[in-house]
Amino acid sequence: MTKEIAIIGGGPSGLMAAEILSANGFKVTIYERKPTFGRKFLMAGRGGLNISHSENLDSFIKKYGMKSNIFKTVIDNFSPEKLRKWCEGLGEKTFIGSSGRIFPQSFKSSPLLRAWLGRLEKQNVIFKLNHDWLGWDQNNLIFKTKNGKIAVPSNTTILSLGGASWPKLGSDGSWVKILERESVKISPLQPSNCGFVTEWSVVFSKKFEGKSLKSITLSFQDKKKHGELIITKNGVEGGPIYALSAFLREEININGSAQILLDLKPDFSIEEIQKRLLKPKLKLSMSNYLRKTLNLSDVAIGLLMELPDRNNWMQNKIINAIKSYKLNLQKPFAIDRAISSAGGVTFNSVNDNFMLINKPNVYVAGEMLDWEAPTGGYLLQACIANGAYVANIIMKKI
Ligand SMILES: Cc1cc2nc3c(=O)[nH]c(=O)nc-3n(C[C@H](O)[C@H](O)[C@H](O)COP(=O)(O)OP(=O)(O)OC[C@H]3O[C@@H](n4cnc5c(N)ncnc54)[C@H](O)[C@@H]3O)c2cc1C
Repeated sequence: MTKEIAIIGGGPSGLMAAEILSANGFKVTIYERKPTFGRKFLMAGRGGLNISHSENLDSFIKKYGMKSNIFKTVIDNFSPEKLRKWCEGLGEKTFIGSSGRIFPQSFKSSPLLRAWLGRLEKQNVIFKLNHDWLGWDQNNLIFKTKNGKIAVPSNTTILSLGGASWPKLGSDGSWVKILERESVKISPLQPSNCGFVTEWSVVFSKKFEGKSLKSITLSFQDKKKHGELIITKNGVEGGPIYALSAFLREEININGSAQILLDLKPDFSIEEIQKRLLKPKLKLSMSNYLRKTLNLSDVAIGLLMELPDRNNWMQNKIINAIKSYKLNLQKPFAIDRAISSAGGVTFNSVNDNFMLINKPNVYVAGEMLDWEAPTGGYLLQACIANGAYVANIIMKKI
């Protein structure tokens, strides 16, 4: 008897499950609502595809926070090293960037995706594009297609439907309602690795929208991140804020806002600033004085000029504003602008094999599960490893 599997969702987690199962004698059909596979994966490659990270496994696993234990097993089974070999097998050697992040040599997703789909075709995976999954009718999977609704019987199904960020790429969280009908518990989908809204003055946002605050240190509670922030019309985004987005979002959920502190001149100690500010201001405006004495960027000076009374500050007030600039964040940017989403199918709703407890023989993999991780390659590594893990479980079972 042929062992048949239906995989719904053609992103990295579904494609990896398809690869392993089809290589091991399964007849795999992969259903995707969009006319092409891997649209979010392609988008991830636009600014350089950061596919994994080279740090040691113990600290790697910690990036999954409360879900580290679950992902330890998954990543042990398909490690960053294994992922690098897999990329190489598809003709895309990888390299480790200065920050420890892993990238394919081409920096892009498209060559990897092309070679990946080529491999799946050779392994006789059946591609069903433009198939929008609507749910179940008893044991049948129901899809909306260009020719109307169809029902497909399936004994074993993998759902790899993604989260809800960038919905125009295909993953829009429409599966939440379908699974809730089956009494599967879902944590609300929320933006992760995202920017945050803050209230700029009209003058500031007009002048600095799109400009970066380079080389600052952002602190929130006991956490610090160094890097570059980008000013948007109504907020801030960029590496350091993405990295702390989970904590900031939770603070806002509980207290209505989150206050971050910016060190606008982390390479100068307080003493160094004090020394430089001994120079008389003479007739210079405060902005010019700060630019000349401290070599602050225009954006940093613009931020300081947002503060009340700035022209009559005493020295210690200036130093405080430069080393601990307070910024209140009101809410995350909308989920459709986020890099990823938090929330999803709760781990209480699946067993250790990622099978839905309420829906036997239906497995779940990838970003649609209730976990989150910072950028740095941790998202794709987990999704791909999760697809591999579920495939290996199914192989052992069937
Ligand atoms: C701008 C951007 C940059 C990113 N950069 C990086 C990065 O550098 N490194 C990193 O690790 N991660 C990055 N990510 C995140 C990463 O791309 C995702 O975490 C990953 O693609 C999730 O994989 P997945 O297989 O779980 O879901 P997805 O890739 O979202 O795939 C799910 C698929 O399911 C399909 N689908 C959904 N619902 C249905 C339905 N009802 N019927 C049929 N098909 C359906 C969707 O169309 C989609 O193709 C980035 C994301 C974005 C948006």
